[in-house]
Amino acid sequence: MTQQQAKASYDAQDLWQKDKNHFIHPFTDFSLFHEKGCDLITDSDGIYVEDVHGNRFIDGIAGLWCVNVGHGRAEIGQAMAEQATRMAYFSTFNNLSNAPATELAAKLAELAPAHLNHVFFSCGGSTANDATIRLVHYYFNRLGKPTKKRILSRTNAYHGTTYMAASLTGIASNNWQFDTLDLVTHLSEANCYRRPEGMSEAEYCDHLVDELEQTIERLGADNIAAFIAEPIMGAGGVLVAPQGYHSRVQAICRANEILFIADEVVTGFGRLGHFFASEAVFDTQPDIINVAKGLSSGYAPLGATLISDDLYAVLSTPQGPGGVLSTGFTYSGHPVSCAAALKNIEIIEREGICENVLEVGPYLESQLKTLASHETVGDIRGSHFMMAIENVANKTTKALLPVEARVGDRVAAEAQKRGLIIRPVGHLNIISPPLIWTRQVVDDVVAILDEAFAATTRSLKADGYL
Ligand code: PMP
Repeated sequence: MTQQQAKASYDAQDLWQKDKNHFIHPFTDFSLFHEKGCDLITDSDGIYVEDVHGNRFIDGIAGLWCVNVGHGRAEIGQAMAEQATRMAYFSTFNNLSNAPATELAAKLAELAPAHLNHVFFSCGGSTANDATIRLVHYYFNRLGKPTKKRILSRTNAYHGTTYMAASLTGIASNNWQFDTLDLVTHLSEANCYRRPEGMSEAEYCDHLVDELEQTIERLGADNIAAFIAEPIMGAGGVLVAPQGYHSRVQAICRANEILFIADEVVTGFGRLGHFFASEAVFDTQPDIINVAKGLSSGYAPLGATLISDDLYAVLSTPQGPGGVLSTGFTYSGHPVSCAAALKNIEIIEREGICENVLEVGPYLESQLKTLASHETVGDIRGSHFMMAIENVANKTTKALLPVEARVGDRVAAEAQKRGLIIRPVGHLNIISPPLIWTRQVVDDVVAILDEAFAATTRSLKADGYL
């Protein structure tokens, strides 16, 4: 069946109604949902997606920071179909394995920093982080240091929504009226735009590092297992830490036997121009790197925890009869997901997608910065294909617009009217495209955004917010 025929078979109204009646959507505002339901996205091709009515949009968010190689890659679909018909699923527990998972583990070890050679598979980013914390606790238990349990995370970090991953997450609105586990201490986010008045970026870095040292002092290194951070904080606002922050944090962690975990669920697989950003961009050698999203470019659910040789030596020490590493998911190393990931990685390498990001990324940054003249645009930040625009009411005071102005939603809606999907997150708009955007696409996108910000300013004025 061709795509055209498949599309013709959808009944837009029927789907919209079924969705509204039955689908509990993640991260959805029910006041909007009850009023207007959802936009159904039904088709995709390269940098474009199409809704059920046939409206075509440039995808400015790579699905959800994940479709790194772009949409509609027939060869990934084919690799998955071949695997699904040859052997869709079999256990990886109890000394069983499958070919795509084995090949992928070896490929990840080859691509990752030299000391990370062991892979634990999960189903996505949350489960990768969740499994990681269990493994970290297990590691210290095995070392005879069972008090080392607390995890240091950061305000506004996003690490997922399983109970543990949500507890690591530091975005207050995400956990609003949810409970979290008392295993995590949140340090300050590294937010250069909103750093204390009069502080240079270097002083701000000192300030954040001091806070870490004081926190370790207060809690006691004997009680702290790990520090977890996104190399660039994503959903929390695309926050780029001050120069040297990550490597200084890692050095302090090392000195206190605190494991350093990099959550590269977003930054991995090319978004910053490298398969892994930790070492290549931030000069850190994490004990653990977690990946998901771009690992399979979203063609199938998959996450992975990459573990250092030192940690593996402890985790894999035989425990005597009956002792097994009792953790894992039915779908750890799912053959179809791993087949998708292997083909995805092949495409990234073959097409020089990291190189494209290194070439077009700085252009995207510089062109987005031309939007700074708009009245609400307070900050334009990020790196390469991971960018955000922060909307404010006043550029000098950096005061925010009231929540009810829904400025991020307004900008996103104006962009969507003009054929571009970007992501609203509170007063922010996030741009995290497929990694195949060219300079021409960047020009088209920035022209749309220019109009969208102008229209937003007009509508905010008309509604009395500016
Ligand atoms: N870590 C980071 C940095 C993320 O951005 C996300 C998802 N946006 C996750 C973890 C959770 O991944 P998932 O939604 O696949 O569970």
